[in-house]
Amino acid sequence: MLTVLNPATEELLAELERAGVGETDAAVARAKAAFPAWRAVAPADRARLLRRLATLVEEHAEELARIESQNVGKPITGARGEVAMVAEVFHFYAGAVDKYHGETIPVAGGVDLTFREPLGVVAAIVPWNFPLNIASWKVAPALACGNTVVLKPAELTPLSALRLAELGLDAGLPEGVLNVLVGKGSVVGQRLVEHPDVAKVGFTGSTEVGRTVMEGAAQTIKRVTLELGGKSANVVFADADLERAAAAAPYAVFDNAGQDCCARSRILVERSAYDVFLEKLTAATAGVRVGDPQDERTEMGPLISADHRDRVASYVDGTPIAFRGDVPEGDRGFWYPCTLVEATNDDRVAREEVFGPVAAVIPFADEDEAIRLANDTPFGLSGSVWTRDGARALRVARALETGVISVNSNSSVRVATPFGGFKQSGFGRELGMQALEGYTEVKNVFVSTEA
Ligand code: NAD
Repeated sequence: MLTVLNPATEELLAELERAGVGETDAAVARAKAAFPAWRAVAPADRARLLRRLATLVEEHAEELARIESQNVGKPITGARGEVAMVAEVFHFYAGAVDKYHGETIPVAGGVDLTFREPLGVVAAIVPWNFPLNIASWKVAPALACGNTVVLKPAELTPLSALRLAELGLDAGLPEGVLNVLVGKGSVVGQRLVEHPDVAKVGFTGSTEVGRTVMEGAAQTIKRVTLELGGKSANVVFADADLERAAAAAPYAVFDNAGQDCCARSRILVERSAYDVFLEKLTAATAGVRVGDPQDERTEMGPLISADHRDRVASYVDGTPIAFRGDVPEGDRGFWYPCTLVEATNDDRVAREEVFGPVAAVIPFADEDEAIRLANDTPFGLSGSVWTRDGARALRVARALETGVISVNSNSSVRVATPFGGFKQSGFGRELGMQALEGYTEVKNVFVSTEA
């Protein structure tokens, strides 16, 4: 039996039966059986079903936000924003269904047509930090392109995915088009990766498991999209609006208690502004409201589990601490305080993904050093550059080896724009029209016009 907990209170939320290999095979068989009819649904009708699902998500937004907030321990206001994005994602891909198609290419001796064909059964394997949001980034474009889906949520956070599957049926998705399996990554996830009838794995999770997925997928030459870990840099030049940069920086690390692949957990600051920036950053960090996720004013909740809290703590032991915040009193919940450490880019806290509310503040001398340090990491997912010099902003943004970069902002994710990593942060893109490439195969049909 799988016990699902509220990480803020340690209360039991649900007890669920775990799927095993047999159930996984059965779900893949259902998805495979549903594929021919689903791909044949006229684009406008497929769009209508996805739009209906988007509307149902909107109608159940508060319920879904409560599920997500209680299961992940994330503040209710943030959870509401995530659910709003889920609805927007389904609307976006409903709108894309009949606007994404092939080309006609004039060639010698005839005409060449390309078609974007669905792949078949897609396995969507997702992590626990943004369970429903990240699921929607895979499920919506996959279904829009005519694939059927087996969704595997993380064991710690299966509840919102199960509710999404119910809403899918209510929206009128045919039986077998969207399936959800609750179970272990090493059993259900592994079987999906190796299953000969799964055409593609859309995976979001750690770089370590991503490697296993890539290896497993090699056996059947499965398509994979890997959205993996990050260690993003927030590069602050002395000429930036330091007030704004410092006010924003804590939320770029402590949102979702730092359990965010886009967390800008290396704050690189030009040396001439380092002291004044650190003072402002510390004041802003002290203002982050940590507490009951159900309280509308709360900005940061607990970590996902006791094990994860121990892991996060191990990064801070022995490192000079510039600031450490408070956590709620009592012995319940997996709390860890907002923490700023002064580090070098070679320290473990700056090299590995902590995935908790810990930011390493690191000085740099000039633009060249800022770029060198920011790129001196195996990851390349996200990042920011803060400066009032427009040419420098673009120069640095172009020089950083990262998939998403924001100028004078810490935002990473928008429904209409591509998201994904460079280097060991993965490959393939989610969101935007680019995501559709990952859920289709190009077919080339040549038609001779010879007399
Ligand atoms: P994880 O890698 O432990 O697990 C992710 C998913 O993979 C879970 O559903 C898990 O059950 C499954 N899994 C585990 N072993 C498997 C196996 N052998 N085969 C197939 N599936 C398996 O990650 P997590 O701890 O749930 O999430 C945190 C990680 O996710 C962090 O590294 C974070 O950076 C990353 N993440 C990346 C993005 C992104 O878009 N790049 C977004 C969110 C989270």
